[in-house]
Amino acid sequence: MRVIFLGPPGSGKGTQAKRLQSALNIPQLSTGDLLREAVRKGSELGKQAAEFMSAGKLVPDQLVIALILTRMEQDDCSGGFILDGFPRTLAQAQALEDALAAVSKPVQRVIEIRIEQDKLVERLVGRRICPNGHGEWHIRFNPPKQEGRCDTCGEALEHRDDDHEEKIITRFEAYRKDTEPLVQFYTDRGNLAVIDGDRDIEDVTREIATAVGA
Ligand code: AMP
Repeated sequence: MRVIFLGPPGSGKGTQAKRLQSALNIPQLSTGDLLREAVRKGSELGKQAAEFMSAGKLVPDQLVIALILTRMEQDDCSGGFILDGFPRTLAQAQALEDALAAVSKPVQRVIEIRIEQDKLVERLVGRRICPNGHGEWHIRFNPPKQEGRCDTCGEALEHRDDDHEEKIITRFEAYRKDTEPLVQFYTDRGNLAVIDGDRDIEDVTREIATAVGA
């Protein structure tokens, strides 16, 4: 099963993609997580991506496309994958489609999580993430068991540098301008499912599971 998650920052893509990963037993691939890891390690890619990310801007297509296509070649992706945060531009969507067509493994489902922008700022400024990739929490809506600590590994949760209001606005603009056209791109291909993201996490998870036949 090959699934894409689309949705603005804070729509719950990461949370829902991680949940679906457990249900389908295929990896969730987040370009945001892969890029943050590259920045943390100080790799060449990390150095190139860092300034775009901290400004809330998109990292150039060729860097992100190479990153994700390389990741998709790993063995754990042989049974499929869930893409979270990729593609984010038409050029990325086209590159992905071409790469998957070459191996006759097209994307079967695109989940768009739809939610109004004014609901998202509060979600994002209160979001805290585990640096070891165990997920994310919210200081009010979904607090961890122990304040400021990951429920899984106990590590101190981080407030992402781009989860501050002025960067959030830039990220919304990038979404509207560069990523929203993908809704039409995948509608034309007939595999888009629109999910209302302004509901309880469990309800959203159930609807997504139905949409992908999990
Ligand atoms: P995310 O964790 O998905 O919110 O991504 C965090 C940041 O990483 C974004 O604001 C971009 O700077 C960068 N990024 C992640 N995925 C992509 C992508 N597909 N294309 C370009 N930049 C990306």
